Amino acid sequence: MLEYKKENCINCGLCEKVCPFGAIEIKEGFPAINDNCTECGICAQKCPVNAFHMEQDKIRNQRTEEYRGFWVIGLEKEGEPLNKVTLELLSTARKLADEKKEKVTLLIKGFGECENWKREAQRTGCDKILLIPCEHPGYDAKLYTDAIECAVRCFKPEAVLFPATVNGRDLAPRVSGRIGTGLTADCTGLSLDENGDLLQVRPTYGGSVMASILTPEHRPQMASVRPNVMEIHWTDEEREIETAYLEDFLPTAEDRVTLIECLEKNNVFADLTEANIVIAGGYGLKNKENFGRLFRLCDKLNAAAAATRKAVDEGWAPAEIQVGQTGTTIAPDLYIAFGVSGALQHTLGMKNAKKIIAVNHDPAAPIFDICDVAILGDAGEVLEECCKILEHKEA
Ligand SMILES: Cc1cc2nc3c(=O)[nH]c(=O)nc-3n(C[C@H](O)[C@H](O)[C@H](O)COP(=O)(O)OP(=O)(O)OC[C@H]3O[C@@H](n4cnc5c(N)ncnc54)[C@H](O)[C@@H]3O)c2cc1C
Ligand code: SF4
Ligand code: SF4
Repeated sequence: MLEYKKENCINCGLCEKVCPFGAIEIKEGFPAINDNCTECGICAQKCPVNAFHMEQDKIRNQRTEEYRGFWVIGLEKEGEPLNKVTLELLSTARKLADEKKEKVTLLIKGFGECENWKREAQRTGCDKILLIPCEHPGYDAKLYTDAIECAVRCFKPEAVLFPATVNGRDLAPRVSGRIGTGLTADCTGLSLDENGDLLQVRPTYGGSVMASILTPEHRPQMASVRPNVMEIHWTDEEREIETAYLEDFLPTAEDRVTLIECLEKNNVFADLTEANIVIAGGYGLKNKENFGRLFRLCDKLNAAAAATRKAVDEGWAPAEIQVGQTGTTIAPDLYIAFGVSGALQHTLGMKNAKKIIAVNHDPAAPIFDICDVAILGDAGEVLEECCKILEHKEA
């Protein structure tokens, strides 16, 4: 039950603006609630002085049947194409939604027509793009959290899928905390159980067990999914796609974070999950100098650099480029490995590469079992030779 304490009210009028259902009118300075109220709880969340109050349990335990449709959260900047992981999530959401005859929505921040997003999303079978109307150029955790919370309370989707990228991993728990629902992080599989609930599968205990997790009593069901673990499915079906704005969303004035500047990352350390060519170094590269060479080779070939955990632990490469079970999962067109053994925990993160070239001095190295081209030799020497050939070509 929504409670209103007039004695707390400072007559700021914010509640009238944030109510998505037009249920509040300010009359003689004070809010009056009409029959449109759905008890979504947004005014109670936004009122700066707690003049509106609603029991959290009341907000949480809304009936699950009211929630419909599958949502994907896109974190792209306007003008950029949709990320591979967004397309993977849209394809997965389409498959799940088809089983329940429901709709797929992409929630993304943007202004304008967003024709490129529309075309790409449509090809995965997406039904609707819901735009967060904000001109802020980059990722802003508070803005996204506020907007997604507002959208979820208004439209009540039954499942929300986030990319398990750096920003997605920051955002998903904020939203689930606000809404008061569960979140399964880093899922590797999603399906529906016999009741139509989302079965969220993720590795646990260092990958030795696959846990299946359900959120039967709270909605929406929320999961984040690693890039490159789901497949993209394009559809030829002529499906209408609707574009709409999250009209009632107003970014609130007090922002605790101010964006001062955006610096582009060097290509070598750019987003590994989106790279077409990845060159990785392992413990067999022996030292930091060889890693310096590997980074220069990446720069010349417009490739992204990667490393094994052992190389990261040695301090030869930054942790953000670790590939594998506890690092990033990738699926590039070409993966070149210098001095990488091919331990299971590493190959879990790169086995979906289309072509694998491995350099190792041990003919029995496990990486040779999964590669397309095996080069038997000293990794440092082969790397140096590759750099020389490229320098010679450039001269
Ligand atoms: C819970 C858990 C999670 C883990 N997560 C990850 C993860 O996310 N990513 C990851 O990478 N690892 C992970 N590991 C570690 C993993 O098990 C391996 O130890 C690691 O991948 C090995 O790295 P490496 O291949 O560089 O080193 P090594 O296993 O030491 O292999 C080095 C290879 O280089 C070859 N070599 C040596 N000298 C030369 C030379 N001069 N020229 C050519 N070849 C040479 C050797 O023959 C060998 O094959 C994890 C482990 C655990 C327990
Ligand atoms: S937001 Fe709160 S303080 Fe402001 S008018 Fe509404 S009830 Fe009053
Ligand atoms: S609970 Fe929701 S619908 Fe009801 S007045 Fe508040 S914001 Fe509007």
